[in-house]
Amino acid sequence: MNDSFPVSPPRAWAEIDLAALKKNLEVARLAGGAELMVVVKAGAYGHGLEEMAKALAGQNIAFFGVANVGEARRIRNAGVETPIYLLGPTWAAEREEIVAREWTACLSSLEEARHFNRLAAAAGKRLKTHLAVDTGMGRGGFPMDQVPGLMGALDSLAHLEIEGIGSHLPSADEDPDFTRTQIAKFHEILESLGGAPRFKWRHLLNSAGLLGYDRGACNLARPGLMLYGISPLPEFQGRLSNVMTLKSRITLLRTLPAGHGVSYGRQFVTTKPTRVATVGIGYGDGYPRHLSGQGADVWIRGRRCPVLGRVTMDQIMVDVSAIPDAAEGDEVEVMGANIPASEVAQKAGTIAWEIFTGITPRVTRCHLE
Ligand SMILES: *Cc1c(COP(=O)(O)O)cnc(C)c1O
Repeated sequence: MNDSFPVSPPRAWAEIDLAALKKNLEVARLAGGAELMVVVKAGAYGHGLEEMAKALAGQNIAFFGVANVGEARRIRNAGVETPIYLLGPTWAAEREEIVAREWTACLSSLEEARHFNRLAAAAGKRLKTHLAVDTGMGRGGFPMDQVPGLMGALDSLAHLEIEGIGSHLPSADEDPDFTRTQIAKFHEILESLGGAPRFKWRHLLNSAGLLGYDRGACNLARPGLMLYGISPLPEFQGRLSNVMTLKSRITLLRTLPAGHGVSYGRQFVTTKPTRVATVGIGYGDGYPRHLSGQGADVWIRGRRCPVLGRVTMDQIMVDVSAIPDAAEGDEVEVMGANIPASEVAQKAGTIAWEIFTGITPRVTRCHLE
């Protein structure tokens, strides 16, 4: 076989601006007035876990927040030594490794705490843990009213150091009244347990919480989405820099006559001769099929161009009638500074978090300094 064929460039790729990421980190630090746990779960929201961890490791981060042990391992295997916090419950079978590698677990039950304590005793260690308190999320942590009564039992576990307390906000971008009440409850619990001096780390605020609310006695914030350039509260969007630009290229350019269907189901039919560009990205790359017929645009040569008909697995069709000099090979911004992820999400009937994490492995991530 001839192995000197030219490389085949990807049809779709994501350019990730590490300088913009670091700018957003400083915005989070300033707005939060607290140290940061950088949330890098789900492959750093689709931005590339190892690359994000390496880019931020030297930036004075208190923790990386991950969803599971597999993500924690990947960070360590990339040579990054920043403390790691597991954001959710752990399987019993994972705990020996967590103890051995000194990752920080959050506790949601006495049973879990006792198991960690036994494993830490066997390893001759004192494991750092945080108390997770459910103040309204309904997903994890000790139910709020049980915490004061359990504290004695938790404190008696000699091989655990409960150095932190945390909770999570379910509605910081939707319901300010509920969120303010929730923050007050968190502080009541904190006070009942001895106040700020009792815990080295006190944390509650995600991106929306950090941007929109007072941190009170919290000294650690857990931003995710805002670091990747999207504010969950639109009024703060102007402070953030775009990090990911999802790109593709025009693969084919044709003029279709009036009355010609475009894409599956022929939901769109031209009403006049139309210059149609075929672009090499589709739902197989994570460009949502739910955008079909929702008025989605892409960005070509400095202009918005409407997507026509349904999104297919590998390709979309775009009306470039307004761009006479459009050419095959032209770059297309499918999402980025000009077509924000929040807009794509809204038109697809979902949220920016899901758009980012839905970008598939076929999309090459290019990290630019
Ligand atoms: C995902 C997550 C975050 C980050 O939330 P954003 O809204 O992306 O800032 C913070 N805390 C916990 C517990 C999470 O699961």
